[in-house]
Amino acid sequence: MKEWRCKKCGHVYENMDTHIRDGLPNGSMLATIDMLDTEEGLDDIPFEELPTDWVCPVCQASKDEFEAIEKEKKAPESEKWLCNPCGYVYDPNIGDTDHDIPIGTEFNDLPDTWVCPLCGAPKEDFSVI
Ligand SMILES: [Zn+2]
Ligand SMILES: [Zn+2]
Repeated sequence: MKEWRCKKCGHVYENMDTHIRDGLPNGSMLATIDMLDTEEGLDDIPFEELPTDWVCPVCQASKDEFEAIEKEKKAPESEKWLCNPCGYVYDPNIGDTDHDIPIGTEFNDLPDTWVCPLCGAPKEDFSVI
């Protein structure tokens, strides 16, 4: 899910149902709906569809000052693979500098031509651990 963050003040525009939540204190619902009817109501619109004159509710920065951020950065699966012939372990969090494999490359995303940096065994000789 994509979010947009104000580069100036750090305000995050969330196109989510952030208003109506369980556990609101009694009586606060009216205030919440009032807010919905005014400027906060725009929160239900995807950022891309906000009017061009929309500004950050916190610092009044224009939409241009917002940048997209990825929410919930997926933690790498970081499945480790063991080279059966030699015992080398391929760890996506380490990558393989010998073969210019960047950190974060899953074993399954390695090129088919990739071989064990220690013994040269092909990918077929690896098993997940
Ligand atoms: Zn702002
Ligand atoms: Zn090996």
